[in-house]
Amino acid sequence: MARIERTKDSSVKSSAVKALKEVKNAKPSREEAEEAIRTLLRWAGDDPTREGLLGTPDRVVRAYEEWFGGYDVDPNEFLKRTFEETDGYDEMVVLRDIRFESHCEHHMAAIIGKAHIAYLPNRRVVGISKLARLIEVYAKRLQIQEKLTAQIAAAIERTLKPRGVAVVIEAVHHCMTTRGVHKPGTTMVTSRMIGALSATTRRPGASSCR
Ligand SMILES: [Zn+2]
Repeated sequence: MARIERTKDSSVKSSAVKALKEVKNAKPSREEAEEAIRTLLRWAGDDPTREGLLGTPDRVVRAYEEWFGGYDVDPNEFLKRTFEETDGYDEMVVLRDIRFESHCEHHMAAIIGKAHIAYLPNRRVVGISKLARLIEVYAKRLQIQEKLTAQIAAAIERTLKPRGVAVVIEAVHHCMTTRGVHKPGTTMVTSRMIGALSATTRRPGASSCR
């Protein structure tokens, strides 16, 4: 009996995955997105037609546009503009405590953290606001912290071709602090070290939310 249930469940799952893949490239309309929020409101046990919730789907969709605004931005574009007049400066450039907000791809819960970026220039440097923007582009997508860290380091490596890159991210995962194991105050640290900076002590990244 249990096995039959499982088989049924997995075939339902695979046909759902297939259907989702078929519509992958068709972005849902704004109305469809708002309707989905109404469904979730009903799922939570509330009444989407009551006055206080009437404007909620519209507000949530607009919030999503902001939280997930990183999908349509190509970081290679704005990182292209680099500066070569550095008067031979070849020491480490460090930008630290760059606050970011992201969302975990497992629960769509907030990830709030700080990123620290260091690189050893190879004649070329980039404006510091561009580095901050780089973090934002990848943070405003559904993420796991390990991937976010790797993507930021790879983009700097690709565009600046420095002698070394180091990216360290420390973040609080709300899927772990407000639900699940409920461990407020827990911070996850991940790092990616490339090139001349890879010899420094590497902290093993803990596994993120599951
Ligand atoms: Zn999560």
